[in-house]
Amino acid sequence: ADWAAAEALIRELPPDGRVLLVCHVNPDGDALGSMLGFGLGLRRRGVRRIQATFPGPPEVPEPLRGLPGLDLLVPSTAAYPDPDLVICFDAASESRLGELVDRLDTAGAALVLDHHASNTRFGGVNLVDPHAAATSVVAEQLLARLGVALDVEIAECLYVALTTDTGSFRFEATTPAVHHLAARLLATGIRPGDISRRVFDTRPFGAVRLFGEVLGRARLDVSAAGGRGLVWTWATQDDLARHDQRPYVLEALIDSVRCTAEADVSCVLKQTGPAEWAVSMRSKGGVDVSRVAVALGGGGHRFAAGFTGRGTADEVVERIRGQLDGALLPATGA
Ligand code: 5GP
Ligand code: MN
Ligand code: MN
Repeated sequence: ADWAAAEALIRELPPDGRVLLVCHVNPDGDALGSMLGFGLGLRRRGVRRIQATFPGPPEVPEPLRGLPGLDLLVPSTAAYPDPDLVICFDAASESRLGELVDRLDTAGAALVLDHHASNTRFGGVNLVDPHAAATSVVAEQLLARLGVALDVEIAECLYVALTTDTGSFRFEATTPAVHHLAARLLATGIRPGDISRRVFDTRPFGAVRLFGEVLGRARLDVSAAGGRGLVWTWATQDDLARHDQRPYVLEALIDSVRCTAEADVSCVLKQTGPAEWAVSMRSKGGVDVSRVAVALGGGGHRFAAGFTGRGTADEVVERIRGQLDGALLPATGA
């Protein structure tokens, strides 16, 4: 990781330099939280021309609409065409930037902040730490190097990002350093109860009923993945329409499916087109699902990964099954 070069890119911005912050498509708490938290930090440093954006429709998922710094957001269609600096957050590869990918070429310089092991180092300067629990950990380190003090707004953004990617401090990446950072964020006075309720524990009644239906059709194959077990379900665009719900409500679905005791691997297929599915995969340690995802055109982390699947839901599940045996990990999970 090239900290000095990253620091220099920001310190050497011209006084009226335009900075474009971008994060991955269908942004989650880490993507938006690290991007907006860093953007607020740049603003504290006196950078005046800052835009934040992400590919696709400029719709922020309801659970993230309380984030500070949302005023930095512009639709991707209105983003600086040739910023002095573009900074990418939580994107493992260029393909995650959609229509904004051209900024890597048109910008004066490109800085990448990320924590995916599969990151392709597509920026001019890359701060990629596969051991970091979230991109926000990397973002906070760079802010600290720049001398930006944490305030309550920056802290709330980074806290949302940290809790999202650590499953509220439940996952393996939850190191002492993660808790030290959380402690420093909490010391600014943010309210973790309010934040968690808003981000994780609030959904429309229609989504509760939609989850009931989609969980009710889940399938379990205990002999898949060398006997480690596979559980999966799928949600169609028609399911969403019948319950009058937006696609992002399905992001939390995998957390209910992966509870299944009899399966190491869990999958949720979320229909995005007539024959297209956004696939989420999780493992409890017996399978490297990022290998499955990469083999099928996607990416992610060892125990949380995804890809875009084409065809029927059955066909996509068959393709996943075809990759499981090649992705088994030693029983220790090491
Ligand atoms: P989720 O299941 O929460 O959408 O994503 C889990 C992980 O897999 C995230 O780290 C995300 O970056 C990665 N991921 C999900 N979908 C895709 C995809 O279509 N392409 C790539 N490259 N990574 C994905
Ligand atoms: Mn993400
Ligand atoms: Mn992340």
